[in-house]
Amino acid sequence: MKKPPLIILESHYVVEYAKTNKRYRLSKKRKLNVNGKYVGKVARMAICKKVGKEDFFLLHCNKKWEVVYAFDYFDALSLIDAKLLAESHYTGVDKNWIKTNYTEKQAKKYLRKQKEEVEKTKCGFCGSKQFDDGIMQVICSDTACICNKCIIDFNQMLKDETYT
Ligand SMILES: [Zn+2]
Repeated sequence: MKKPPLIILESHYVVEYAKTNKRYRLSKKRKLNVNGKYVGKVARMAICKKVGKEDFFLLHCNKKWEVVYAFDYFDALSLIDAKLLAESHYTGVDKNWIKTNYTEKQAKKYLRKQKEEVEKTKCGFCGSKQFDDGIMQVICSDTACICNKCIIDFNQMLKDETYT
């Protein structure tokens, strides 16, 4: 695998990761359901830990390491159980696990930086931050930032002014 996952995936830090293989075992009935949509075979899996917690979580990811499904996000597992669960979906995946060597300290630092970055890129008009509800994007110049919501609102205001 060329690219390991980023240290943090959805606020969890990655302990081990694996490429899945062709032997996908989930039958249609047992397919994972995410918001009514069924998740099929995924290309990657990651076992993660939350900073400050002892539990492990199994994340189903695509090739870009975007999380497609977080298995048992709420029912935490032991490392062995996470691997057993993965193995029950993809026979043979057990041989593919690679350790990241990311430490909790590194993860904390990464999260702190990420937070600072988000704080720096607050929308200068409404104060929204990236990842806030309904905020898809915050665009920044050297001197100011604006969110997608405000762009749409201001656009509408301009249009209203033009036609009335
Ligand atoms: Zn805004």
